[in-house]
Amino acid sequence: MTDIAALVQSLTVEQKASLTAGTDFWNVAGISSHGIPAIRVTDGPNGARGSALLGGGLVSSACVPCGSALGATWDPILIEDIGALVGDEARTKGCRFLLGPTINLHRSPIAGRNFECYSEDPLLSGRIAAAFVRGVQSRGVAATVKHFVGNEAEFERNTISSDIDERAMRELYLRPFEIAVREGRVLAVMTAYNRVNSTFCTEQRSLLTDVLRDQWGFDGIVMTDWFGAADTVASSGAGLDLEMPGPGRAFGPTLADAVRAGRVPEAALDAIVTRWLGVIDRLDAWNDPPPIETSIDRPEHRVLARRAATDSIVLLRNNAILPIDDTRHPSIALIGPTAGVAHMMGGGSAQLTPHYRITPAEVLGDRLGPRLTLARGCTIDRSARPAEGRQLRTATGEFGVAVDFFANQHWHGEPTVSTVRPSTRLLFFDDPVPGISGNDFSFRATTTFTATADGVHHLTLTQLGRARVLVDGHTLLDGITDPPPAGDEFFGLAGREMRAPVNMRRGESVEVTIESNTIGAAFFYGVKLGVVPPASDHDIDDAVAAATAADIAVVMVGTSDEWESEGHDRADMDLPGDQDELVRRVAAANPNTVVVVNAGAPVTMPWADDVAAILYVWLGGQEMAGALDAVLFGDAEPAGRLPVTMPLELEHNPTFGTFPGENDHLPYGEGLLMGYRHYDTRHLPVRYPFGHGGSYTSFAWGDVTLSCEQFAIGDSGRATMPVTNTGTRRGAEVVQCYVRPARGPLSRPARELVGWAKLWLDPGETATAIIELDARSFAHWDPTSSERQHLRERTRTAPHAVSPASPRDVPGWWIDAGAYTIEMARSVADVQRRVSINVAGGRIAESCQATPL
Ligand code: BGC
Repeated sequence: MTDIAALVQSLTVEQKASLTAGTDFWNVAGISSHGIPAIRVTDGPNGARGSALLGGGLVSSACVPCGSALGATWDPILIEDIGALVGDEARTKGCRFLLGPTINLHRSPIAGRNFECYSEDPLLSGRIAAAFVRGVQSRGVAATVKHFVGNEAEFERNTISSDIDERAMRELYLRPFEIAVREGRVLAVMTAYNRVNSTFCTEQRSLLTDVLRDQWGFDGIVMTDWFGAADTVASSGAGLDLEMPGPGRAFGPTLADAVRAGRVPEAALDAIVTRWLGVIDRLDAWNDPPPIETSIDRPEHRVLARRAATDSIVLLRNNAILPIDDTRHPSIALIGPTAGVAHMMGGGSAQLTPHYRITPAEVLGDRLGPRLTLARGCTIDRSARPAEGRQLRTATGEFGVAVDFFANQHWHGEPTVSTVRPSTRLLFFDDPVPGISGNDFSFRATTTFTATADGVHHLTLTQLGRARVLVDGHTLLDGITDPPPAGDEFFGLAGREMRAPVNMRRGESVEVTIESNTIGAAFFYGVKLGVVPPASDHDIDDAVAAATAADIAVVMVGTSDEWESEGHDRADMDLPGDQDELVRRVAAANPNTVVVVNAGAPVTMPWADDVAAILYVWLGGQEMAGALDAVLFGDAEPAGRLPVTMPLELEHNPTFGTFPGENDHLPYGEGLLMGYRHYDTRHLPVRYPFGHGGSYTSFAWGDVTLSCEQFAIGDSGRATMPVTNTGTRRGAEVVQCYVRPARGPLSRPARELVGWAKLWLDPGETATAIIELDARSFAHWDPTSSERQHLRERTRTAPHAVSPASPRDVPGWWIDAGAYTIEMARSVADVQRRVSINVAGGRIAESCQATPL
């Protein structure tokens, strides 16, 4: 047992302050003379990437489904295993902190980082988050819930003020964090870039200390988001512990100066260091070896990633066409711009280099052979995409690009290291490999590129540093003798995209060589070589012809890491490019049209009623293509349910008109009526409601039994209901429990999710859905009125005008006495059973339940 108090006392102010800021992007220094270890951190929510940002680097990682996919599983037990997988992966990168999960809410359907977040509902988000955190932390890695709080948009994210009223804050936006602390015992919290009600999150003592530590019992550390604004005095007083990345600007040496100048009490610095060492102690990270990043592609991780991907797929609609019986419907046309691409994650800091990339076209091709025809239909690229997968072969026959690194700027001598990369996106961060220094290396990458279409292709070069591209030995693009001006890709660090034509026939191959060095680049190096296939005016016609000739048309539409990304919100909710037109035309040509939407957030689906089936697959990680194939052909059940509402139009969403904010403020004007709480309370039609999703089998629900007829604060209760699989296949049912509140003095949404049970049942099997109820299932936050006393005094001489005395002078979680309805439902719009319960009123006393790892 380390005596942390004694250790803190033994350190100088400088030493203590050195623990309050990073040394570089991903590391916090140790103090070896005192046995304090250096600690390394890694993003992020859909895998442990290691130190290489934006998928740059040599080290690959397991890529699990994105956040909205995990939310769509409604399965905390599975998600705890996924968390453990990501925790294992963090250790393979030498890391003790994982910068995830992201648990902001899907407030607007077009917020750029929705794909990282679980749901629009705070309970679903919180329970999934707590499970993920438990899994990560079971591997000796601190999970970091982010971004605390009110980071529900990307617009002007470093300065915008999310203006949130107290009830919405407590009942919606703080709730996932509260559950992650109380039920997940999370060890780290990352503050949001934005301000909340005009004050930067890093400076809000009410949030970082009063709520987080004093009310919820959080005893881990609070860190900034990367380069987030912080203030030495205000932030150290508010409860911030760590400024990232390093070197520190407000903390680190600046904090030491402030302590010596008497502007920050040394006791505040001691408290910060005590918390930091407390987390190291709970992780038992005192004697870690120096971190080394490795790639370990474990078979059991593939299995788990596959399960999460299949269990997240939501069957939105099915006119008895799914699962596909390919003996009855032997020929299939796979159509769409995302069919031939492994779109498995969103963009930004969540991006990583996956262990492998597999496209739906490849997996369906393996299953169907010549019975599968392919047609792109249209394109959706915002910029040229790198070539990847089977289009590329090295001289030794591997798929990908062979890369030789040289420890000089001119490709001289023997390569220091050689490796194979899966795509022509060759980005490196810091020191890419041992023996190679980040600001002084070059590489030569070679591959054979095979065209999949006839006509003029364009090759593009986006460079960080200097680079050129040679095709069959001739220079095609030269960014060395003629470097382009700065562009906007890769945080604006890259040169503007260059492009040049290459005429090729389908099946023809060319030798491609890329030579690149680090001259003129800073901390990001390398190139993206993009390939723009020949433009065609006939894409949709070709797709229609393929659909007409096939028994079934599967149309894959969606977004990508370019459309859904950290750094920008989407402009609208529509599918990019001509995808809506493509679906309409294909569906008109073939009544057996199945649409697969691959996106991390809602899209408008104006054709929804005209197609035979719709599956939503949510940027499902490295196993997305295999999972889709399994669900399409019935090897697996589409076991997901919507974690968000699919609105008919973006304009129907309550944030429309105020999102993403203006003049430095983003008003959360809809208050509590966010997501389904808005559509449901106001009886508005939606495309598909929150919680919706079909199955390949059928279920019968029995009667609901309550463990008690009366409920009072301090009680715990249960609603139970038998469910039977009445079909012929194994399947999953998600029984959702909503509560309709009794009338009280404050307005409330019509119903709110208070629990759920996911049951896997064999044909004929019956099991009991059990929903646990506690006081919070019935409560709402009452901020009370600060004017009440004053109003009573002002009106005391007018007896009829006196504001009524209220017992509620204390803010908190209150229950109004009365009859509440417990509802069992298949979605928020499909309530199947109702029972009433009498609940006694009162205020819930706060309790702190956090206990050590
Ligand atoms: C993101 C964080 C991320 C950090 C480090 C920031 O831009 O907002 O979520 O963890 O970068 O990559």
